[in-house]
Amino acid sequence: MSAKLPMKELFDLPEGVVYLDGNSLGPLPKGALERARTVIGREWGHELIRAWNTAGWMALPQHVGDRIARLVGAAQGSVATGDTLSIKVYQALAAALKMRPGRRAILSDSGNFPSDLYMAEGLIRTIGKDYELRTPAPEDVLDRIDEDVAAVMLTQVDYRTGRMHDMDAVTRAAHAAGAVMIWDLAHSAGAVPIDMAGCRAEFAVGCTYKYLNGGPGAPAFIYVRPDVVEAVEPALAGWLGHDAPFAMELNYRPAMSTERLRVGTPPIVQLAILDRALDVWEGIDMADIRTASIALSELFIAEVEARCPGLALASPRNPAERGSQVSFAFQHGYPAMQALIDRGVIGDFRAPDIMRFGFTPLYIDEADVIAAAETLETVIAQELWRDPKYRTRARVT
Ligand SMILES: *Cc1c(COP(=O)(O)O)cnc(C)c1O
Repeated sequence: MSAKLPMKELFDLPEGVVYLDGNSLGPLPKGALERARTVIGREWGHELIRAWNTAGWMALPQHVGDRIARLVGAAQGSVATGDTLSIKVYQALAAALKMRPGRRAILSDSGNFPSDLYMAEGLIRTIGKDYELRTPAPEDVLDRIDEDVAAVMLTQVDYRTGRMHDMDAVTRAAHAAGAVMIWDLAHSAGAVPIDMAGCRAEFAVGCTYKYLNGGPGAPAFIYVRPDVVEAVEPALAGWLGHDAPFAMELNYRPAMSTERLRVGTPPIVQLAILDRALDVWEGIDMADIRTASIALSELFIAEVEARCPGLALASPRNPAERGSQVSFAFQHGYPAMQALIDRGVIGDFRAPDIMRFGFTPLYIDEADVIAAAETLETVIAQELWRDPKYRTRARVT
């Protein structure tokens, strides 16, 4: 039987805050601070360089990768951790293009996160051949998969609207056309059930500071389908992706697993915090998370639509087509979100006009949803967003 949700007691959440931004930065799990203290004070401080062996630092990236693998339906040993998601996107895409040398198109969509598209553009400039990045509207992707396409690279859950691609259907279409499939699970891992092994995509990438609560700057992950590992030529051939890093060989020889997509020294403090954060998921069934997330999202939509007629739902109405977030479009979305945050309800804003709310059943319950909708109603009905102090854009929105 799965653990009972929510599990607020497992997090250090500030008093008086309804946190609806765990889709952007998960909150601090209890025990994470203590773990960081141990790694810094005892392991680094006392063990010094010996800690790579004595404190298990060298084994930590793979250990954490295996824990993430369980959450996304991937086999043990098929997920590597490290770097940032943007780097992992680059690596997966570079490898995919090498796997289809005769083809010149990368197919993504206009709902993808800008960094994924920028990394693709940068890769194309680096290769210097006549590659082309295609970005149709998300609903047109299936029709645009053809035999020019080397790689289909999509983010399953749209960061702005929460719109969700059908991983199985798109992967099947990509494979039928002979293309390599890359999924970005940034807004999926820890949010919706994923079956990486079952969907048969060659690559998946994701980050761990969103729904997995690994903290700001927590390392990314990359999955490679085990039977294609040997066809993966690492574009960033760092020493920790080498088959025997400490043999200090003059030439690069890739590791025989997903580990070949590691680059350099792992961020041990962040990995240790992430390892602690993943304890929260022990005994959790992702199907229960999904059920609870849909219930919370449906309640929020109903409450907001009843209370705030000026806001337009920007997410799919059908919960089956939506990830674990709900977005509303509002012309004054930026100042309205600042006014809301000022009153303890934390969501975020995505240009041009999206107010975004993440629903994370680990620490959000129905009372939080109602409280958030009530506060939003006050902000909108009383036009509290008109206060000039909410107009100045911060660096992070
Ligand atoms: C959050 C997110 C990123 C961020 O990439 P970083 O390199 O970790 O900053 C990239 N892509 C998608 C789809 C995201 O949601």
